[in-house]
Amino acid sequence: MNIASLSIDQITSGLRERSFSARELAEQALAFAQAENPATNAYLHFCPERALAAAEAVDSAIAQGQDPGPLAGVPMAVKDVILVKGVKNTCASKLLANYIAPYDATAVARLEQAGAVIIGKANCDEFAMGSSNENSAFGAVRNPVDLERVPGGSSGGSAAVVAQGTAVASLGSDTGGSIRQPASFCGVVGVTPTYGRVSRYGLTAFASSLDHIGPFARSVRDAARVLEAIAGRDKADSTSAFAPVDDYLAAMDGNVRGMKVGLPKEYFTHLDSESGDLIHRGVEALAKLGCEVREISLPHTDYAISTYYIICTAEASSNLARYDGVRYTSRSADPESLTDMYRSTRGDGFGAECKRRIMLGTYVLSAGYYDAYYIKAQRVRALISRDFSNAFQAVDAIVAPVSPFAAFKLGEKLDDPMQMYLSDIFTITGSLAGIPCMSVPCGRTAQGLPVGMQILTNHFQETTMFRLADAFERIGGPAAVI
Ligand code: GLN
Repeated sequence: MNIASLSIDQITSGLRERSFSARELAEQALAFAQAENPATNAYLHFCPERALAAAEAVDSAIAQGQDPGPLAGVPMAVKDVILVKGVKNTCASKLLANYIAPYDATAVARLEQAGAVIIGKANCDEFAMGSSNENSAFGAVRNPVDLERVPGGSSGGSAAVVAQGTAVASLGSDTGGSIRQPASFCGVVGVTPTYGRVSRYGLTAFASSLDHIGPFARSVRDAARVLEAIAGRDKADSTSAFAPVDDYLAAMDGNVRGMKVGLPKEYFTHLDSESGDLIHRGVEALAKLGCEVREISLPHTDYAISTYYIICTAEASSNLARYDGVRYTSRSADPESLTDMYRSTRGDGFGAECKRRIMLGTYVLSAGYYDAYYIKAQRVRALISRDFSNAFQAVDAIVAPVSPFAAFKLGEKLDDPMQMYLSDIFTITGSLAGIPCMSVPCGRTAQGLPVGMQILTNHFQETTMFRLADAFERIGGPAAVI
């Protein structure tokens, strides 16, 4: 068996037919991942004991004739901001370098209930802040497609492990694009579900009103299977939704005839021509499948970057206040006073991007600026959401680029935070609206760099999103119209 090419269906049927055991698969995945890791730095740590225990539980369920679950034996990685009990959760920050998770995130517990085998924690930008994975205190991740390039961020490690084939699927988190953009850069599928579809319990908070957990996988089918396992109401997260979880797989019949697809005209002006051409070819393929494609408008798109970077920094400045040297973190040695302890713990522990956001967020929340920035941003957020609700009265799904360009070189944008922020233009709108969105591979540039196509649907319409993405994948993406 070759982990780098196995699908979830192949794993579960291989286990049932006794072609291999879950333990054999876990051992092979761990050995493969550890051998590959020096090239990409995609994993921060491995958890072999936990992985082998989960694999043995699957094997014994099979031996006893029980159902081992829909993700039985599937080797997975989890972004290092999502708690896996007894395993380090560093958030790629020096501040939490030795922090061990005291409990499981709900998504992690549900993965294991479904039979998944978690082999390690994936590298990311510090506290999920960034678009290139270069803000990790433990070194950047290299894109397996081209080792001189970034994998995207902030869930760069989660995308890279799936692209390199050391995990069959992974979990990431998305606040403003951190699942879709790395999925696009690494050529894999990445899904940001509706806000509240997956419990945030055990996800280290960055910007709570925008944070989502979602899957990465090599196919739309696999991603849908993982989402199905982790979605649903959780009483430990009051923002998790009561809406029942649909049977995503059942809806993927390849038939999208008559589906109304909108192309937002504002999304095709700020991107490089090669990415634009690939997306247009993808759209032509959808039209050939029988989709009715029409132009739409999302008029407040231009305000999205400023709105997002006010709201997310405001929430981050509050969420990160808990790392004070009293709890969670190691305390700086021999502080002279309480204030000195706070100052030195936070000053030494946080990297530059986190400090920048804490300062920005504190500023926009301060008396006198609160109304001018924070309240105004909340109002604009409502307008951006309304743009989407209006659009979804006329179309079933929206198709757009994920990023203005393909993966850039390591270091290329590191000294210019503004350029880095601007690259999030096409992903943060969906996050602000809380709607489901995903990136599905849509071909490669002349240099061989992957480009993802974004599909967005209305709240809780994951089924429509998956149906369209799967139909596109079945015909081989843009290859079908070349
Ligand atoms: N790139 C965006 C940021 O830096 C999004 C990050 C995310 O989704 N976690 O905030």
